[in-house]
Amino acid sequence: MTEELDPSLLRDSWTDVLEHLPDAVFMVAGAGTDGKIKYLNAQATRMFGFERSELIDQSIELLVPAPLRESHAQHRRRYTHSARLRAMGAGLQLLGRRRNGTEFPIDVMLNHIGDRAPPITIAVVRDMTERKELQEALTLARDSAVQANEVKSRFLAAASHDLRQPLQTIWSLQSVLARALGNTEFSPHMGLLEEAVRSMDEILSALIDINRLEKGAIVPVVRSFPLREILSRLRSELGYAAANKSLILDIEDSPEIVSSDPMLLPVILRNLIGNAIKYTARGAVQLRVHPTQSRVDIEIIDSGVGIPAGNVRRIFDAFYQVDNPNHDQRQGVGLGLSIVQTICRLLDHGITIESRVGVGSTFTVQLPRGVATPTAPEQVSVKTSVSPPVARGTKVLHIEDDPGVARSMAMLLRLEGYDVVSAASRDEVLQHVNVHGLRPDVILCDYQLPLGVTGDKIVAEIATLLGAKPPTIMLSGDISDKHVEKARLIADRMLPKPVDVNLLLEELETLIGRRD
Ligand code: ADP
Repeated sequence: MTEELDPSLLRDSWTDVLEHLPDAVFMVAGAGTDGKIKYLNAQATRMFGFERSELIDQSIELLVPAPLRESHAQHRRRYTHSARLRAMGAGLQLLGRRRNGTEFPIDVMLNHIGDRAPPITIAVVRDMTERKELQEALTLARDSAVQANEVKSRFLAAASHDLRQPLQTIWSLQSVLARALGNTEFSPHMGLLEEAVRSMDEILSALIDINRLEKGAIVPVVRSFPLREILSRLRSELGYAAANKSLILDIEDSPEIVSSDPMLLPVILRNLIGNAIKYTARGAVQLRVHPTQSRVDIEIIDSGVGIPAGNVRRIFDAFYQVDNPNHDQRQGVGLGLSIVQTICRLLDHGITIESRVGVGSTFTVQLPRGVATPTAPEQVSVKTSVSPPVARGTKVLHIEDDPGVARSMAMLLRLEGYDVVSAASRDEVLQHVNVHGLRPDVILCDYQLPLGVTGDKIVAEIATLLGAKPPTIMLSGDISDKHVEKARLIADRMLPKPVDVNLLLEELETLIGRRD
C-alpha cells in the first residue's frame, strides 16, 4: 500500500523543503536595502560556517572575498534592475568566503521576486570544491597524457630516424657476407642474421607507422584503382616469407576496381598476410576476393593456430599478443593489427574475423567498389616483371652521407657487378659530374642530405647538367609524408629506409631493364 501525499501538506511545508535542500539558499532584500540577507537555509550555514543569527540582516557581501566585494555590490544593484532567472557571473570562476576567511569555488543561480516590497533576490549556491578538484585532476591527467604522448612521438621519430642508418648498414653487410660466403656451413647462420634484421626492420616500421597514424600525419587519399596491381606486389613481397616456412601463398588474381588508398591498403593486407604466415605452421595462406553488389571483400584465410574466442576483441589493441609470454620479438610486438584497425577506420573499411583454434582464421576487409577510369591503371606505381640482371658495368651514382651505409651499400652493389661512384654531399656530386665527367646510368639517392639539401633538388641539378634525368631510386627515411611527395615527383621509385636489399637490387634491375 502506498501512502498518498497530501498536496496541502506539501504547500505548508515549503520551508522544510528549503531547509533540507542540498544547496545553500539565500533570500536577499533587493535594491535600496543594500543586499541584506533575510533568509538562509541550514545548508547555507554549514557551507559558509556561520550561525544563522550572524548573517540575518547582514550584507550578502560578507560571504564574498574582500577584494571582490565592491564589484559584487555593483553587479547586485544592476541585477535588481534587470532581474531574471540566470546563472551568476556566467563563465567566471566565482568564489565564496567562509567565516574563517577561507575561500572556495561556488556556482550561483539567481532569481528575483519583484512584486514584493521590498523585492527579493533568491540565490542558490553550490559548493564546487570537489567538482573543481576533480576537474583539475582530470585536466592535469589529460595534460600529462598529451605531454607523454608528445614525448613518445618525438622519441619514436628520433629513434626511428637514428636506427634506420645502422640497420641499413647491417642489412647491406649481411647481404655482402651471405654472398661472399656462398653456400657453406655458415649459410644457416647468415639465414638467422637475415631473419633478425628483417624482424628488427618490421618492428621499426610498425613503430613508425603507428606513430605517424597517432600524430595524424597520414592523410588518406582515396580513389579508384585496380586491385590487381597491389596483389601482384604483395605476392612478390611476401612469397619469400611463406616459402621460408614451406607454406603455400595463394594470392588470387582479381579484375576488381576498388575505392581505397593505394598506399594504405597494401599496409593493411601486408600486415594480415604477414600474420597469417607467422601464425601458420603448415598448409596455406590464401587471399580471396569476393565482389558483392556494392562491396569488394578481401579475405585472408590461413590454416594456422586460430585465435581463442575470448581474445578476438583484444587482438586489435596495441601491444596485445595472445600467446607470447616471453615477449619473443621474433613474433612481433603486437602492433600489426592495431595499425590495421586504425587504417581501416581512416579509410572507412570494415574488418571482420572468423577464427577456430587449431583450424585457422579468416580476416575479411570490406572495401567499397571503385569506378573504372581509363587513367586508374597508370596511377599506381607497380613493379612488373623483373628484367634479367644487366648490372655488369652499369654506373650507379650512390648519394649517401652516412659513411657506414655508403660503404656497405657500395660493397654490395660492386659484388653484384655494378660500377659504383659514391658521393656524400652536393659538392662531391658536382665534382664527379663536372670535373670527372661522370654520366651515371642510375642514381641511388638518400633523400635527406647534409646542410638541408634534399635528394629531389640534387637529382634535378644533375638532370640539368646532363641534359636528361638518369633513372632514379630515392631512399627515404623521413617519416613526414609531405617531403616524400616532393621526392616522388622526380624519382622513378621511392623506397623506405632501411631498404630490403633484395628488393633494392630487383628495383635497380627493373629500372635498367626499362631504360634498355
Ligand atoms: P603481432 O603479430 O606483432 O603479435 P598483431 O597486432 O599483428 O601483433 O597481432 C596481435 C595478436 O593477434 C598476435 O600476437 C596473435 O596472437 C594474434 N593473431 C593475429 N593474426 C593472427 C592469425 N592470423 N592467426 C592467429 N593469431 C593471430
